[in-house]
Amino acid sequence: MPTLLAEVPVLFLNTAIYARLSEDRSGESENVRIQIAECQDYATANGWPLVGTYDDNDIGASKYSKKPRPRYDALLSAIQLGRVHIILITEMPRLYRRLEELLTLIRMAETTALRRIQTTDGISYDLSTEEGVHAAINAVNNAMLEAARISKRVKRKQKKNAQNGKNHGGKRPYGYEADGVTLRPVEVAIIRECATRYISGETIAGIVRDLNARGVPSAQGKQWRTENLSRILLKRRYIGIREYNGAEYPAAWPAILTHGQHEQMAARKLTATTHGRKKGGPARSYLLTGPANCGRCGGKMVGGGRTAEADRAAQRRYRCQATDNLGGIVGCGKVYRAAEPLELLVTEAVLHVFDNPHVAVMLAPPQDEKTVRALVTEFERRKAKLGALVTDYATGLLNREQFAQAKGIAEAAMEEAREALSEYQDASTLALVRADQTLREAWATAGLAWRQNVIRLVVERITIHPATSGRGMWRGYKFNPEYIEITWKV
Ligand SMILES: [Zn+2]
Repeated sequence: MPTLLAEVPVLFLNTAIYARLSEDRSGESENVRIQIAECQDYATANGWPLVGTYDDNDIGASKYSKKPRPRYDALLSAIQLGRVHIILITEMPRLYRRLEELLTLIRMAETTALRRIQTTDGISYDLSTEEGVHAAINAVNNAMLEAARISKRVKRKQKKNAQNGKNHGGKRPYGYEADGVTLRPVEVAIIRECATRYISGETIAGIVRDLNARGVPSAQGKQWRTENLSRILLKRRYIGIREYNGAEYPAAWPAILTHGQHEQMAARKLTATTHGRKKGGPARSYLLTGPANCGRCGGKMVGGGRTAEADRAAQRRYRCQATDNLGGIVGCGKVYRAAEPLELLVTEAVLHVFDNPHVAVMLAPPQDEKTVRALVTEFERRKAKLGALVTDYATGLLNREQFAQAKGIAEAAMEEAREALSEYQDASTLALVRADQTLREAWATAGLAWRQNVIRLVVERITIHPATSGRGMWRGYKFNPEYIEITWKV
């Protein structure tokens, strides 16, 4: 790319200010206006003409995906046009979060008028000398290491607080004031009432329905939901235990429930949730929750097993959901179906549909495709940056030490992107079927969420009609496929 340097009148110290609003690890942020004012004073004191002021709001940028910095890009354009000799900042981390970005700028300095990065605390990085480049790389590197150290320090402090039984902070726990220690008597009474009622045999849904009917608010001032109440009742905080990373410490706050109450509730909860669950299996192992509907009332079918009885083994099955998580009546609750043959039937039908090559073309993109694609792009970008570093080393722009340092950081960043990607592996579907695998092969090894996504791509609804006759065998199961109706999307 030809430089435009010659077309621009050169005032040697043309200065551009860059400021960035970002959140540091302690949650504090430095006002952009303060940064700019500080830079302006510094430029004035040195008699440097300002050619531009650029500022970005970087709050909310995730560790993995880069939030666009439009003004930073504008700054780069100004540099490209040869208008900038000095970038003035309050401190290095304002300019860069990542070393690769600095390396881009170092390369730009070779072909433009840009000469240095200057901080208002008086440090100057001369990008035209090897020493200056090295110092700049070190500064960014140190800022990154410092951020990591702060994070470790915060974690150590959290652990110490936990060992002392101190409150964790965050949202106000139900039953206590915001300090997490002082009791709130009205809520204490509610917790004790709920525990007593649950232990005496009432259902969570029934208690929730009653609380909502009485207008008793949750800690957030909202209606109660079954999952909130059942989670709260089993919190070990209420028996005076502070948990941290799997360890338990005596809490600094008063207990609300007794150990005995806690154990009784835990035992009841356990029998309620192990219905139909294979021993040691995942809690939510119902493939068809979502698309499965009751053919009698049109309501949702959910996973809910039958407990082992004297004459029958425990069984995974789907049932029509009678009450929702606010305790309201939503379905008839009368239709049940064994899970194994139903899932087998739907799986075979879905895989059969996917064997049709036209189907793949018609598929709607999965929900997370955007995120996954961004992560893949990010990963590829980092891989390319690493390649660029090798070139820089080969062409002598970086010496061996700088290269080793930059390479280590680039590789760590690649690993980060890879990890972030793996979190989405279950949520994304066909994009992650390996090239050497068929969908059938992938199905055999994929997780539940992945399979559910694949089903969602082609199945609109699965209707489970009431089985009027218990007779008929299918694949060794007491099951009649005729009562199952699959509505396809394609
Ligand atoms: Zn129903």
